[in-house]
Amino acid sequence: MKLIFLGPPGSGKGTQATLFKNNFNTESISTGDLLRSEIDKSSRIGLEAKSYMNKGDLVPDEIVLGLIKMKISNTNNYILDGFPRSENQAIELDNILKEINHKIDLVVNFVVPDDIIIKRILGRYICSKCGEVYNDYFKQPKVAEICDKCKSNSFKRRNDDNEETLKNRLNIFHKSNDLLCNYYKKNNLLISIEAIKNEDFIFNLLKNTIENKVNL
Ligand code: AMP
Repeated sequence: MKLIFLGPPGSGKGTQATLFKNNFNTESISTGDLLRSEIDKSSRIGLEAKSYMNKGDLVPDEIVLGLIKMKISNTNNYILDGFPRSENQAIELDNILKEINHKIDLVVNFVVPDDIIIKRILGRYICSKCGEVYNDYFKQPKVAEICDKCKSNSFKRRNDDNEETLKNRLNIFHKSNDLLCNYYKKNNLLISIEAIKNEDFIFNLLKNTIENKVNL
């Protein structure tokens, strides 16, 4: 199974990619996570990417494409989360897929209105130890300041989850997403889902939709 999840930041595509990973053994490949891991390692790529990410701008294609190519060449079942982000990245992805003889089965477009996205992103915080995601408005830990999953009491927020950067990230998303959707609509690969309900509901909706289209 090879899927692409499109959607604005905070649309829940990363959460769903992780649920698929846990339930269907697919790898979740997030270009944002790959870039953040390069920043943590203080690699050359990480240092270059950081300035773009802190402003909410897109990191140059050659960096992102290099990371993606390395990752998908060694994987058979995957979900691309946050990639492609532009029509050019979609075209370049097709070139890579052709080279390694892979074919995308389905592209899912997560639709969520901006006012919900803003609350999801500005309220988002993450367990520093296990990565479980919480939210000031929607999902607090059951015991205050203790992670439900791993009991850690250390949490962090992403550097780019602030009002100014989010505005830019949403602008960039709105400029390119229609083009991307049209690109995949032409290839008959696109489905859109309204992704505003809770994660279990969305997971079941997605699972049923995908099961009808792809052999899981
Ligand atoms: P995300 O974790 O998907 O919200 O991405 C965080 C940031 O990483 C974005 O705001 C961009 O700066 C960068 N980024 C992630 N994916 C891409 C991509 N496909 N192309 C360019 N930049 C990206």
